[in-house]
Amino acid sequence: STMPPLLSAIANAGRHGVLAKSAVVMERLGHVDTVALDKTGTLTEGTPRVTDLRPLRGSGLDGAALLALAASAEHPSEHPLARAVVAAARERGLPLPEAGEFSSAPGQGVTATVGGHTVQVGAPSRLLPDAADAPHRAVVAELEEAGRTAVAVLRDGAAVGVLGIADRLRPDAVATVAALTALTGRAPVLLTGDNERAARRLAAEAGITEVRAGLLPEDKVAAVRAWEAEGRRVLMVGDGVNDAPALAAAYSGIAMGRAGSDLALETADAVVVRDELAAVPAAVRLSRAARRLVL
Ligand code: ADP
Ligand code: MG
Repeated sequence: STMPPLLSAIANAGRHGVLAKSAVVMERLGHVDTVALDKTGTLTEGTPRVTDLRPLRGSGLDGAALLALAASAEHPSEHPLARAVVAAARERGLPLPEAGEFSSAPGQGVTATVGGHTVQVGAPSRLLPDAADAPHRAVVAELEEAGRTAVAVLRDGAAVGVLGIADRLRPDAVATVAALTALTGRAPVLLTGDNERAARRLAAEAGITEVRAGLLPEDKVAAVRAWEAEGRRVLMVGDGVNDAPALAAAYSGIAMGRAGSDLALETADAVVVRDELAAVPAAVRLSRAARRLVL
């Protein structure tokens, strides 16, 4: 064809499921030497399911009431964990009281008013003090030990229960990690807001050994900046609102498109439009092939 190599690379990447927003973006993908992957929705399918309902003693709630309370607060959120909580409540046919005054803190959780109470749902480490005798602690440890994401539910500032949520690796995660390792000469690093225990277990299954867990959005940015200060060119791959600052800070940013947040899609340089992680190494390869044609 008479198309310039980078434009045909963009077209080919599109066929492989990655939409690059410009020729500059397409060109940069071939230069990356460090890949940072988000966990939930990026390395995992992003369709997690609620597996455990654990109301705490003294809360006056049973499992169904705990789930309904959490789902009401989570209803406006686009986070994959929020969608799991709402889906679980719907499956059980639970009525969801209308929530008001909704707000969300990326990487932490949500707050809303439900039936006159302030309800918070999110990371136990962020929402609750970690005192050894705190009643939620044994439940959280047990769930995380089993590879689950433990989500705390608070009513008017007090823990009333914990939900266990499980997600699966994407079917192409192992092959993608191997391909990116071969392309860049180093294994990708996992950057996640989730807990360390669940993150390490999942990373190991995918062939990743370097894991940074419990990160806030700004911590993901700091990790990217630290590598770039060493002269590395970082490709960040993520899907969430919590990933947007790191997608913007990185030399190159790719968002997972199917369930990705609007903010991530806008911020990223390229978007995976078919729901396949393997499109990422394919785009890197196409960029390098185009460079050989240009030179
Ligand atoms: P990741 O980096 O793996 O994509 P996030 O940064 O989005 O994860 O979330 C980090 C943690 O914050 C989650 O593991 C969860 O504990 C908590 N969290 C964030 N948003 C929500 C939410 N809407 N509902 C429940 N928990 C949440
Ligand atoms: Mg995510």
